[in-house]
Amino acid sequence: MKNLSDISVIRDVMERHGMSFSKALGQNFLINPSVCPRMADMCGADKNTGVIEIGAGVGVLTVELAKRAKKVVCVELDSRLLPVLDETLADFDNIEIINADVMKTDLHKLIEEKFSGMKVVVCANLPYYITSPIITMLLEEKLPIEAITVMIQKEAADRFCTPVGSRDSGAITVCTNYYATAKQLFQVSRGSFLPAPNVDSTVIRLDIRPEPAVKVSDEKKFFQMVRGAFSQRRKTAVNSISSAMGIPKAEIIEALHKSDLSETVRAEKLTMDDLARLFENLFE
Ligand code: SAM
Repeated sequence: MKNLSDISVIRDVMERHGMSFSKALGQNFLINPSVCPRMADMCGADKNTGVIEIGAGVGVLTVELAKRAKKVVCVELDSRLLPVLDETLADFDNIEIINADVMKTDLHKLIEEKFSGMKVVVCANLPYYITSPIITMLLEEKLPIEAITVMIQKEAADRFCTPVGSRDSGAITVCTNYYATAKQLFQVSRGSFLPAPNVDSTVIRLDIRPEPAVKVSDEKKFFQMVRGAFSQRRKTAVNSISSAMGIPKAEIIEALHKSDLSETVRAEKLTMDDLARLFENLFE
């Protein structure tokens, strides 16, 4: 089997298939041989597991997943990679490539059709131009998956994994913590990729909670309020929510008082419980 983290192997297979890297599709392929085995070991895949991968590249992570899992289904957008993957994944009979945009793929159907009776996890080195939309979609779709292990830009990982109510938290932190517990697994330097990006990376793991972290009466509206609260970071929560949702400030101040919160509080100081209480008092 070819060493898919070897630069000359990657260049050779791509050249033979007339392929070049697409910056627009976030194609930075892993060339550090220790990263994919570590990710595959830590994502929760075993012989009873189906793994969804997003973006195969030349298949360097895909083969490590296939060695450990019962089945790997990879959604890859770039059709130019299909003949490349036919060649690089030829030794495996438990890998299926779906040529599609993951954002337009019905993952509920995919899981039902491909992973019947298996526990399911997601593992991927994500294209960085679309990291937050992909993770938000995976969480909000409430897929029957146990965990999401992904490599993302370091700064994004800090934002995803910081506690809600801490200085660096944002709407995406609240969304992640609502659906999952998040932790950083390990750092990956920019030199681990071909071509090298301008940023360092972090592998994070999100373990899906059996129940959301807090109970709210209307999830969609709750996240509208959360996004509003974080929309203008230098303003108070009152001002941000008021201008984002068109609600009079007096109503929000009253709801803050009822929730035992200061009317000058900023969104990043609010914990998950604070946000849930504020929401229920504002829209009761
Ligand atoms: N897994 C490979 C690796 O680690 O070397 C490739 C990772 S590369 C950072 C991201 C991959 O995602 C590329 O192969 C790219 O073509 C693919 N991709 C980009 N946008 C996508 C989308 N919307 N849906 C599915 N795959 C996508």
